[in-house]
Amino acid sequence: MTALFPGSFDPVTLGHLDIIKRGEQMFDQIVVAVLNNPAKSPLFTVQERIGLLQEAVLGISDVRVEAYSGLLAEFAKKCGAQYILRGLRTEADGVYEISMAQANRRLMDGLETVLLVSDPAYAYMSASLIREIAAAGYADSGFDDRVLDQWVIPAVKNMLKRKYL
Ligand code: ADP
Repeated sequence: MTALFPGSFDPVTLGHLDIIKRGEQMFDQIVVAVLNNPAKSPLFTVQERIGLLQEAVLGISDVRVEAYSGLLAEFAKKCGAQYILRGLRTEADGVYEISMAQANRRLMDGLETVLLVSDPAYAYMSASLIREIAAAGYADSGFDDRVLDQWVIPAVKNMLKRKYL
């Protein structure tokens, strides 16, 4: 059983990593599918996002990281994946996730979406919140960037520092 875990991962957070680790207990293989969509003007390039994810999943077996563009259902067919794994932080996430799951089943017969409820420790976190905190923090000369360690791995913190300092 192969599951795709799709997203922007701009950048990967400990919230994403929690879903990957829990998903890995449920599926034989997880493919982290990194959306390559330059129109979204991400902070990190797709190569940077993949590199950081690869570092984050070191030591977790049966996880690989790949870029995709276009329809996720088509990428699922290409990978031989029957499942899409997504994290559910809030009720608001659910509104979007339910319609995506229904659309994806129409796009590929039998493509099931599995929603894992976020750990409360990470439920308020998003990659965009991390970017905002890092941007505002590094703009301030007195910023103690150890606060970022509760949300991201050290390699991500270093990249945020390079982008914003
Ligand atoms: P998207 O841009 O599609 O929301 P993200 O990269 O932000 O993609 O997220 C990818 C997946 O990770 C989504 O299913 C999202 O719900 C989940 N996710 C993001 N942040 C967290 C978190 N803090 N805890 C649990 N799941 C999360």
